[in-house]
Amino acid sequence: MTQETTQETTEETTIEYIVGGDIISWCTKCKLMLNHTIVALVDEFPKKAKCKTCNGNHNYRSEEPKAKTPGGTRRTKKTDFENQMAKLEEGYDFSKAKKYSMKGNFKKEQIIEHSDFGIGFILNVPESKKVEILFKDGPKLLVQNR
Ligand SMILES: [Zn+2]
Repeated sequence: MTQETTQETTEETTIEYIVGGDIISWCTKCKLMLNHTIVALVDEFPKKAKCKTCNGNHNYRSEEPKAKTPGGTRRTKKTDFENQMAKLEEGYDFSKAKKYSMKGNFKKEQIIEHSDFGIGFILNVPESKKVEILFKDGPKLLVQNR
């Protein structure tokens, strides 16, 4: 003997909205999902609702509006190199950066300013004609003593 417990819920869940009926809506004043009274219907769908909490009339909103990210555009996280540069800035005077030039002769731990890459920190001088410089975009190998 099998007991049928699966009760199929084929009931249609179409809600009939009526003016004066209750509805949960986002209240633009209370900034909460609250009980509202339907004030106006458009195409059988709630258009305006009255908040039962603040008695304010406003457009019906079925859900909480998406929260705006504070400060507008969400800035991408600082890269490791940017953090590294920030740390270096604490120990070195970036305002004394020397203009980078291929003809220049640079030393380790010097601060330079590159016309494209910005402020850089000389990590290493692997050979007399090359310098390894850390920029906020990452380390780059540039020429010197040209
Ligand atoms: Zn309200």
